[in-house]
Amino acid sequence: MGGTYDVIIIGGGPGGLAAAIYAGRAQRKTLLIEKGNYGGRVNDTVEIRNYPSVVSESGAGLMERFREHAQSYATNEFKRTTVIGLEKLENGNFLVHTKRRGDFESNCVILDMGTKPRSLGIPGETEFTGHGVAYCATCDAEFFKGKNIYVLGAGDQAIEEADYLTGFASSVTVIVLHEEGHLDCNEVAAETAFHNPKIKFIWNSTLQEIKGNASVESLVIKNVVTNTSTEVKADGIFFFVGMVPQTDFVKDLVECDGKGYIKVNEKKETSVPGIYAVGDCTQTFLRQVVTSASDGAIAATASERYVKEKKQLDAILSPDSGKVAFLFYNPYDNAQIEAVTKMELRLKDQYRVIRQDITRQTLLYQQLGLTASPACAYYENGKLTNLEK
Ligand SMILES: Cc1cc2nc3c(=O)[nH]c(=O)nc-3n(C[C@H](O)[C@H](O)[C@H](O)COP(=O)(O)OP(=O)(O)OC[C@H]3O[C@@H](n4cnc5c(N)ncnc54)[C@H](O)[C@@H]3O)c2cc1C
Repeated sequence: MGGTYDVIIIGGGPGGLAAAIYAGRAQRKTLLIEKGNYGGRVNDTVEIRNYPSVVSESGAGLMERFREHAQSYATNEFKRTTVIGLEKLENGNFLVHTKRRGDFESNCVILDMGTKPRSLGIPGETEFTGHGVAYCATCDAEFFKGKNIYVLGAGDQAIEEADYLTGFASSVTVIVLHEEGHLDCNEVAAETAFHNPKIKFIWNSTLQEIKGNASVESLVIKNVVTNTSTEVKADGIFFFVGMVPQTDFVKDLVECDGKGYIKVNEKKETSVPGIYAVGDCTQTFLRQVVTSASDGAIAATASERYVKEKKQLDAILSPDSGKVAFLFYNPYDNAQIEAVTKMELRLKDQYRVIRQDITRQTLLYQQLGLTASPACAYYENGKLTNLEK
């Protein structure tokens, strides 16, 4: 398939795959681009127990079913490459630049780039990544069979993963910034960890340096209360100190918060009409498979309406379209229905009059910055000549 796509989805996590399922069912010409494994971050979890209808399954197993479903539509195309840029073209379409597969044009774009583990830039962290420094227990636990390892962090992920790692390592020591007994994770995880004989804690402390030769051999741990540093022998260290959104290539295009999460509204619209964002890479309250999938469904549906409406408007407002008047009204307000009926009667001899129900046809209303109805926008040969608010 070539040519312009109806929609390009960047990222194939649960959000992107759910969007592809909805786009596929609507028979839209869809391209999903994924730089790694289809299924995203949840591939890293051994067991998922909170996706409705799934009592227990591996993260990778559940995502395989998402992928199969999304790929079952003839109009859906999947490509493996990294997206490195996104630009808005003069015709209102978008151009997606990829690292290895060239550029692709689309009527709209759904962003689902998710997050990646935060790195702290501690001396030795980059040098020993993959050689004792790790960020994913499921991916790397078996490299640490019978070893003495450390975990940095005290949240849900850190404590749950520390417990998981004890299935492989001989001892897991958790470095915690807080005073003794205080963790940031849920109660169940904390109790499980406190009762696990293979888990030890170092309180009031942080990691200062990672040392070794070919791989990690020791860690320098600093007690933040006494301000003293101690060097301990270690075969590895797992970092679970939060996630950061993978939004670098869109940061200058769509509005993001201070941490780089993309700001979206209830339709998953970003600050740029035609660009939608879903799941973990957005500013949102809960980052889970079910919420990302739900976002994907919303963005796919909203973006389909956007493209349809944009194509209709482009056709109405062509350079030789003559005089056109758009009447904006709320159909649930009788007074507004009466008002636009009168306006239509007054204008119809001079203008082609087009009514815009502002509860459904939001594109032009938003583009004109309108906040109340009734309102009227006058055009001549595609150019705005007057706006009555
Ligand atoms: C260890 C762990 C355990 C978890 N356990 C659970 C659980 O039990 N239940 C639950 O509901 N959730 C769980 N989660 C959270 C869940 O994984 C996420 O909320 C979910 O995966 C988010 O989906 P997403 O589609 O928003 O993003 P992601 O899953 O992060 O997918 C984003 C995708 O975009 C791709 N991508 C990024 N940038 C680019 C680019 N430039 N070009 C192309 N592709 C790109 C990435 O490779 C990735 O595949 C867990 C997460 C982790 C890490």
